[in-house]
Amino acid sequence: MRYQDLSYWLSSLDGPLTPRPGLPGDTDADVVIVGAGYTGLWTAYYLAGADPALRIVVLEKEIAGYGASGRNGGWCSALFPTSLPALARRHGRDRALAMQRAMRETVGEVGRVADAEGIDCDWRAGGTVVLARSEVQLGRARAAVAEAREHGLDDADLVLLDAAEAAARCHAEGVRGGTYTPHCAAVHPAKLVRGLATAVERRGVRVFERTPVTALRPGTAVTPAGVVRAPVVVRATEGFTPALPGQRRAVAPVYSLMVATAPLPEATWAEIGLAERETFSDYRHVIIYGQRTADGRLAFGGRGAPYHYGSRVRPDFDREPRVFAALRRVLGELFPVLGPEVPVTHTWGGPLGVARDWAASVGLDRSTGLAWAGGYVGDGVGTSNLAGRTLADLIRGEQTDLTTLPWVNHRSPRWEPEPLRWLAVNAGLKVMFSADEAESRTGRPARRAAAFSHLLGH
Ligand SMILES: Cc1cc2nc3c(=O)[nH]c(=O)nc-3n(C[C@H](O)[C@H](O)[C@H](O)COP(=O)(O)OP(=O)(O)OC[C@H]3O[C@@H](n4cnc5c(N)ncnc54)[C@H](O)[C@@H]3O)c2cc1C
Repeated sequence: MRYQDLSYWLSSLDGPLTPRPGLPGDTDADVVIVGAGYTGLWTAYYLAGADPALRIVVLEKEIAGYGASGRNGGWCSALFPTSLPALARRHGRDRALAMQRAMRETVGEVGRVADAEGIDCDWRAGGTVVLARSEVQLGRARAAVAEAREHGLDDADLVLLDAAEAAARCHAEGVRGGTYTPHCAAVHPAKLVRGLATAVERRGVRVFERTPVTALRPGTAVTPAGVVRAPVVVRATEGFTPALPGQRRAVAPVYSLMVATAPLPEATWAEIGLAERETFSDYRHVIIYGQRTADGRLAFGGRGAPYHYGSRVRPDFDREPRVFAALRRVLGELFPVLGPEVPVTHTWGGPLGVARDWAASVGLDRSTGLAWAGGYVGDGVGTSNLAGRTLADLIRGEQTDLTTLPWVNHRSPRWEPEPLRWLAVNAGLKVMFSADEAESRTGRPARRAAAFSHLLGH
């Protein structure tokens, strides 16, 4: 397998993806981080910035950006997998709003660091437009805005668009309205993660690639090349976590798949819009997401690939021809200007981590020195930065505004053993697909889908 083939993004980088050297042998460190995606690298970045004397080692089984961080849709958003009302119910309104505020600030923080570190990741803070293409979807758009208002958010956070306003941003077929939030930037995800790996090395962090961790224990990360001993061990393996011993039921790996078109002519863009490179989606149940790339392509993805028995993660699961065909069809429905043969040049996918209660979390167990972050349910581009800053504070024993946020040290329950897990996740997928089909057939909302909406929605 060539790393370039893992995503359009990795294939479009300048220069080869030559792996860094692996771990040379047994090593001592202050902090060892397992996984060189955004979570691991942001953690290393902020830790090294706060205390340059810390000896930090990152162990990556392939190369930095091999996982979802090198393959995602490039929405650096303020979306958090637990909704504001659900957070408010669990933790109170003030803490829920603090979480939301922290997420909004995170979008700017990622942009600022990219700028400061000279990471040219095609950053464009154009916001997100979510389209409503039926009466039912329009109802959801109105409800989303009403819910935001109830929690004190105003038009500067989320605004309802009428048909003309929505179409002016994204001229998809049959648009009846939608919502717009400015709190999102479109990024080239692989440029961000690869740039970040270089930035942490500049800060003195040692990144070892092609170094799989086979066991994680208090004080120790074990690899075939040697053992790293450190009082703090950070698990930053997200959708790959179930492959680690003892972690099979920690998160369920759910696959998200993407396609990218060839660069589109200016005349086509004049019809589609997305002039600010707004990221876009619509109010259906099974999430779709897209962005106009800096080089003029549509990069477009969706959930809906099956969950695999036993939480297995394998390279061939990244490719599901049925889902690629569906994505291509939906893209053609949204933008008929693409013609009957939507010019898709790249297809790829990858796993993301879903905790049993759909709650992302970040934490450090002081008694064992084991730390973790993840379970972002597909909202990890921004959230992983907040996780990295929070882990840096927790590991350094600092009490800050970040360490009191409601997701800190949250413990999600474990997933059910198989076959229950397989039955539940795939049944959820099926309900959501049928709900979308039923809604477009009958024009009425499919209520049963609400119970599962978190599984596939943001
Ligand atoms: C197709 C797709 C589209 C997405 N779109 C978006 C989006 O638009 N916006 C958004 O916010 N989120 C999106 N996400 C989710 C987002 O990409 C992830 O939440 C985020 O990248 C997670 O970062 P991470 O560092 O926690 O995990 P990853 O990037 O998955 O990194 C984990 C790393 O750990 C390594 N690893 C695993 N096991 C071991 C081991 N035993 N030893 C050593 N290393 C190990 C892996 O090789 C990998 O490099 C998407 C995900 C996918 C798959």
